[in-house]
Amino acid sequence: MAKDVIKLSGKRKSAFKDMVMGLLPDGGNLNACLTCGACCSGCPATGFDGMDPRKFLRMAALGMDDAIKESRWPWFCTMCTRCVHVCPMEINIPQLVFNARKLTPRDKVPKGILGSCDMALSKPTNSAMGCSQEDFEFVVGDILDEIKEEYPIWEERNLVAPIDKKGAEFFINQNSREPMIEPEEMGPLWKILNLAGVDWTYGSVGWAAENYCMFMADDDGWKELTQRSAEKCDELGCKTFLNTE
Ligand code: SF4
Ligand code: SF4
Repeated sequence: MAKDVIKLSGKRKSAFKDMVMGLLPDGGNLNACLTCGACCSGCPATGFDGMDPRKFLRMAALGMDDAIKESRWPWFCTMCTRCVHVCPMEINIPQLVFNARKLTPRDKVPKGILGSCDMALSKPTNSAMGCSQEDFEFVVGDILDEIKEEYPIWEERNLVAPIDKKGAEFFINQNSREPMIEPEEMGPLWKILNLAGVDWTYGSVGWAAENYCMFMADDDGWKELTQRSAEKCDELGCKTFLNTE
């Protein structure tokens, strides 16, 4: 017998799938699969570890909970939701994957995601790259000066990149990759906001937009990072939280 043949004996209880269905409106339609394969066609994770979204859903439907718990495939999913958009039954596979990630013990989570989540939690800025408040403020000021020096039109147009501006309309966050690795990439957003006449600010706390705890399916960590940003937004009296991620 070929070693990758799945042998089924009797009907197994799908505890994992039933648990996920209990969390989702209409059970995420997880019982409605037509096995058409449309989800696999556009999925960037199809083929990794010999797995694809349809197969993963079938494993859940067949009650192969141990195999799901062991599988590394959920960590290849990008949560892009393409599968949901092409699925004729709108089956919520990303939520199935998200909950499968929760089955992975913390010491088995891919190191990059775990380290980024832990780093963000350890910094008031929420930066997964460890950018401090002081470094962020320095880089923002430095890039702003550079732009105005090189292109005087932005001095004339009063280009700004405020931090902790009280009462600004928009509280805007920023992926910390930019201030850390490609700071000049922050300028275009500031220019667009200037041209659009938007009243905005960054926060000195909670400005980092990335949230690896969410990708790790760490609900408590996800909540803590989001709460920091939301509380700073409230403290400044901003009316709209604009998430750039
Ligand atoms: S697209 Fe939807 S119905 Fe078709 S195989 Fe994928 S999950 Fe099942
Ligand atoms: S959300 Fe995951 S399973 Fe769905 S298409 Fe994207 S990578 Fe594939």
